[in-house]
Amino acid sequence: MKLADLPALTIADLQTLLRRGEVSPTDVLKALRARIEKVDLTLDAYLSLDFETAVKEAEKTDVNLPLGGVPIAIKDIINVAGQPCTCASKILGNYRSPYDATVIRNLRAAGAIPLGKTNMDEFAMGSSTENSGFKPTRNPWDLSRVPGGSSGGSAAAVAADAAFGAFGTDTGGSIRQPAALSGVVGVKPTYGRVSRFGVTAFASSLDQVGSLTKTVRDAAMLMRAISGPDPQDSTSLNEPVADYVAALDRDLRGVRLGLPKEYLIEGIDSQVKSAMDAAVKHFGSLGAEIVDVSLPHTEYGVAVYYFVATAEASANLARFDGVRYGHRAENPRDLLDHYGRTREEGFGAEVKRRIILGTYVLSSGYYDAYYIRAQKVRELIRQDFANAFQKVDAIISPTSPVPAFKLGERTSDPLQMYLADVFTIPANLAGICGVSLPCGFAKVDGKQLPIGLQLLGKPLDEGRIFQIANAYEQSTDWHKQKPPIQ
Ligand code: GLN
Repeated sequence: MKLADLPALTIADLQTLLRRGEVSPTDVLKALRARIEKVDLTLDAYLSLDFETAVKEAEKTDVNLPLGGVPIAIKDIINVAGQPCTCASKILGNYRSPYDATVIRNLRAAGAIPLGKTNMDEFAMGSSTENSGFKPTRNPWDLSRVPGGSSGGSAAAVAADAAFGAFGTDTGGSIRQPAALSGVVGVKPTYGRVSRFGVTAFASSLDQVGSLTKTVRDAAMLMRAISGPDPQDSTSLNEPVADYVAALDRDLRGVRLGLPKEYLIEGIDSQVKSAMDAAVKHFGSLGAEIVDVSLPHTEYGVAVYYFVATAEASANLARFDGVRYGHRAENPRDLLDHYGRTREEGFGAEVKRRIILGTYVLSSGYYDAYYIRAQKVRELIRQDFANAFQKVDAIISPTSPVPAFKLGERTSDPLQMYLADVFTIPANLAGICGVSLPCGFAKVDGKQLPIGLQLLGKPLDEGRIFQIANAYEQSTDWHKQKPPIQ
């Protein structure tokens, strides 16, 4: 195989070549580097790369480890020792991580090589990667469009073969939505399945780390490597990790898939709707039984999320005060001026908007009216899912109501942007797991834009949604299509 063809491989296929000794981990890095240099000037998927360290690691890695010799891209919110960790914020512009997050330690133990940090919305706040404090990332299917967000750099890199696989974080959809808009597979695991230690906190009761990959099998491989209990994260679940890969190939006979009536909202793009209808039919032909379910509190999801997430963000981001990390304002008059100007200069508009909103909903007098009430509705949303899962094994929906939108199209209207996550947010509020995978294309302005299908599963039932997703993927061709960027 020619070196130039390596970056298009899945992780599973790359691993076969590595183990047979047909390519070496350093060849793989060389090929990937050439690919990144070719496409990333256009895409801007990466914020930083560290090939020197990666090559050293490649030289001593053992290809027989579960991910031995596989280079992986990491969203710039997850700490990788010695590499920058900016969260795409000027306030952390020259911050370098002093230690590895637990997910990175687990990845290294599995033989994977973290080779660079990907672009994102600042502190993971956004749905388009346009809130990055440094640069927007472009969608490889149409360079005038966004890749989704906030893990847009990770999604674009994988879609354009500039990464074999990547990690992101999902607080309200930030893995699944960019996966859908960029045409890759994105996983948000059950809350507590993956350690958050070393992952910069946005909204701690919602954040989870998950994978972006070319196939469901690759997702199962990556998620198996990073999942599991961690004594350094008190919210991590003390449950064993199933062998997601071994369970992939079971068929769908007897599987019950729930179709929530509340998800067929107005405003859903007609091409997304037809792709969904076709996918539901396809699942039927694979032997799954389609069952109507109801998630009656769906309409409150986005509102509840913007109370809970901003409240937690306002508390979490208090640590960026110019004393301990990153940017510090020059010549402060006094301490208040120091805090005020440091944060004024360091944070972008969306982050400030969220801190203000979060501080407001937590303030005395409004706490009960907004924050406490939001928590109560959050519980109702969780119960909606618990009730539905008594009848079905998984729930099926579109991932995003629309395909990729144009750069700049939604930036002036935050509410419009927030609606990008109507279908993904409820899973974070409920703490359940979900995956988005390619299920078709929309034709817009003569371009093909990927459409994503979302499967939601019970808490800790990742193995099941991977199995269902794999059966769909392996009987369709969507995931084999490549974007025009060359
Ligand atoms: N788009 C949502 C937001 O802006 C979700 C972000 C995320 O999942 N990190 O908050």
